Amino acid sequence: MSDPRLEIRNLSRHFDASKAVDGVCLSLRPGQVTCLLGPSGCGKSTTLRIVAGVERQDSGEIHVDGELVSDGISSLPPEQRNIGMMFQDFALFPHLSVLKNIAFGLTGSKLQRRTRAHELLERVDLTGYGEKMPHELSGGEQQRVALARAVAPRPKIMLLDEPFSGLDDRLRDGIRDETLKVLREDGAAVLMVTHDPAEAMKMADEIALMRGGKIVQKGAPYTIYNSPTDRDSAAFFSDINIMTGKVKSSLAQTPFGEFFAPGHADGTILDIVIRPQHIRIDFDRAGQGPTPTDAMGQAVRATVQRARFLGQNSLVDFLLEHGAILTASVPSVFLPKLGTPFWLLAPRKHCYVFPQPH
Ligand code: ADP
Ligand code: MG
Repeated sequence: MSDPRLEIRNLSRHFDASKAVDGVCLSLRPGQVTCLLGPSGCGKSTTLRIVAGVERQDSGEIHVDGELVSDGISSLPPEQRNIGMMFQDFALFPHLSVLKNIAFGLTGSKLQRRTRAHELLERVDLTGYGEKMPHELSGGEQQRVALARAVAPRPKIMLLDEPFSGLDDRLRDGIRDETLKVLREDGAAVLMVTHDPAEAMKMADEIALMRGGKIVQKGAPYTIYNSPTDRDSAAFFSDINIMTGKVKSSLAQTPFGEFFAPGHADGTILDIVIRPQHIRIDFDRAGQGPTPTDAMGQAVRATVQRARFLGQNSLVDFLLEHGAILTASVPSVFLPKLGTPFWLLAPRKHCYVFPQPH
């Protein structure tokens, strides 16, 4: 495996009494896309700005290709870091043509710079726009020019702070995919900020989930989605159902059976979390089929309380025998009538057992 291109060690920054960034560590390899994902205000932009060198950290180190770039005491100026940036509030130089905007940060002969700028224009699908001025372009086109400008000098590291959020959906997917493809091919390490879990899942090799200035979990999209570290992390990616279970002999007791709860004292109430799409309707059992296996837990009798057709899927609220309500996401070919009884299953591997938040 290649050495890290960007290493962030123990980065912290406070504003007044609050810690905007609190001990952040990240390591990015060339060609790798990492998404910094988290709710608004959790410290994503501040982290990026410190890496870029436009904000100072209180403590912590930034290394690029093994070289110390900044440690809070001494700091390489932004323009010497070989780090490209694309922020939400990008700005083109209004008095320069599109081509000159893209060529702005390039070195080499005039011909080399023009050639590279034209190459990038083509990559962002703006061939023929080189002589236009920024004000003659739509917002989306300006954004593509800004991306071309950021990518043109082949930065070792690219920082993207929700640069695609201003674009309409159709445009966004295309531009985002193309931008990341270009950056990956160039071997740049990409650190991309987003508050949108779907976007992070789609784009990232690795997701770093951030909350209150801290990275609470890091991992591949599959891992972070399927093995959340706590209730809030689970809830960040989808709606969740929360059941409670009382611990007895290291097992949390629920209507769906017992769940392992090692290390929790008898009597403790734990949350058992399951995503709507993981709840299973046990059609076999309705016809008196096989009893559920251990992996499936215990089947629970439930009736339909509400059912909504959403196109791709249907959302069904079930009233369980003992009074709890669970929402299940089921294929949209299925839209049951109110009051219909079913047997439900909560597959063990999709149930997460967490202590209750304080
Ligand atoms: P995010 O990008 O995740 O939405 P930010 O990094 O922009 O979050 O902000 C993290 C926290 O730091 C927020 O509470 C924000 O108000 C605060 N903050 C950011 N920049 C400044 C600043 N220059 N002065 C004071 N507070 C700031
Ligand atoms: Mg931000």
